[in-house]
Amino acid sequence: MSKGIVYLTGAGPGFEDLITLRGLDKLKISDVIVYDRLVNKNLLSFAKDGARLIYVGKENKNHTMTQDEINHLLAREALEGKVVTRLKGGDPYVFGRGSEEALYLRERGIVFEVIPGISSFSGGLTFAGIPLSHRKVSRSFHVFTGHKADDSDLDYKKLAGLDGTIVFLMGLSRIGEITKGLMDAGMDPKTPAAAVENAANFNTRKIISSLEKLEGEILKKKFKSPSLLIVGETVKLSDELDFLMAKPLFSKNVVLFRDRIRGEKTLKAFNEMGANAFLLPSFKINYLPDDFILSKIGDLKSYDLVIFSSQNAVNGFFTAFFKKFDLRDFSNTKFLAIGPKTEKALNEFYVKVDYVSQKAVGESLVQKLKEISGPRKLKVLYPRSNITREEILLDLDKICDLNSFPVYENEKEVNSEIFESLLKLESPYLVFTSSSSFNNFYESYERAEDLLKKGKIISIGEITTSAIKKRFFNPYRESEKSTIEDIINIIRKD
Ligand code: SAH
Repeated sequence: MSKGIVYLTGAGPGFEDLITLRGLDKLKISDVIVYDRLVNKNLLSFAKDGARLIYVGKENKNHTMTQDEINHLLAREALEGKVVTRLKGGDPYVFGRGSEEALYLRERGIVFEVIPGISSFSGGLTFAGIPLSHRKVSRSFHVFTGHKADDSDLDYKKLAGLDGTIVFLMGLSRIGEITKGLMDAGMDPKTPAAAVENAANFNTRKIISSLEKLEGEILKKKFKSPSLLIVGETVKLSDELDFLMAKPLFSKNVVLFRDRIRGEKTLKAFNEMGANAFLLPSFKINYLPDDFILSKIGDLKSYDLVIFSSQNAVNGFFTAFFKKFDLRDFSNTKFLAIGPKTEKALNEFYVKVDYVSQKAVGESLVQKLKEISGPRKLKVLYPRSNITREEILLDLDKICDLNSFPVYENEKEVNSEIFESLLKLESPYLVFTSSSSFNNFYESYERAEDLLKKGKIISIGEITTSAIKKRFFNPYRESEKSTIEDIINIIRKD
């Protein structure tokens, strides 16, 4: 049996990509991942198949697991020969009891390594535009825990005498005591002070204020943990240096209903613009076996035209196609792409497209084919999805000699955990990019209507809109251009 090891890893604050490469490498090979409340849950998707994920989150009072229990757990798994990642928010050695866990393991002869992380006090504040130091303004910084149990009370006289930036972690519930303590000890009530909630996240909030006013504003805005408190002159730079809030879609909640593969890309585009965006994957793409596709292809030289109406069809078809053929096996065949995305996907396989219809709907396919056709019926190959609408296929069959078969299937995907968290969002934009993603969503979740009522529905194209209307909902906006850029623009302008 291989020897066990524990990696005490810092996940960084907020954004998942703030973990280090080293931390991610070890995460990917771990048999067991023991993680806290402050860890970005998206990181768990990097776990290898079959890894055990154990949540030991410490909610303020009702600890899910005591520190002793966590220590035992880490030791037990490592002694069984497992590779364990103990994933902690921020840096494991910053108020995270990482050193206690390390000592516990060391006393039992268990091998461990510590992988540092970006701490919230530095990295978190960076995303709020608050530098820890700035020449001439603040030449030192000091980090305290506001947690009373951890040490005897703060020595406010000493703190008030510091002339650098002061940061408090775990200080939110004692904000009144801290600000009063500092002022009583002689600190100027007008000293700039700030609070940052959920730092380094798309749902972050911040208050830029002064020592005397900070408590009132925190109460008014109902800030919750995790939050950072900052006192010092560099707070004043916040508005100028805040590059996150400056993003065009910052503070907009957006839910995308797409398959996972394309959805992840779209999600990134929205995140780049600063949106608080979520993906509710409504279906999975399963490509059909190569053998099946190859058995359906028929005589390549006989086709006048090949039609593709989605990127998935292009990918599914050509992946199988190139196992047996190459492009010379088509003779005088022309290619028709429905929608610019489909054209691009074809170009990636070095196929030049002869006809493109700009609108990505089935009807425009029929229309386009009518335009292309002469007096003779064309012989057409149309590899497609398993849910291509029957009426489109019937229409095509009337006007050409059609060979059409599925190269991929849409399989419904349900994720109740993500769905529940979406219900908590404030007036989210709900982006539906196809009628099937709307229908899948509507049929898969009992409380789908609750989310639809809360949100602003954005629909791509008229077919999607009519699917939405069939269920008695009205899109708030419809994108005619059928591109993500267009949707981003719609939300930006709203
Ligand atoms: N090891 C962690 C700190 C753990 S103590 C680190 O290095 O950041 C938990 C406290 O950290 C919280 O109460 C809060 O004050 C702060 N904190 C952690 N992540 C935060 C975040 N994303 N936004 C604001 N505060 C955060």
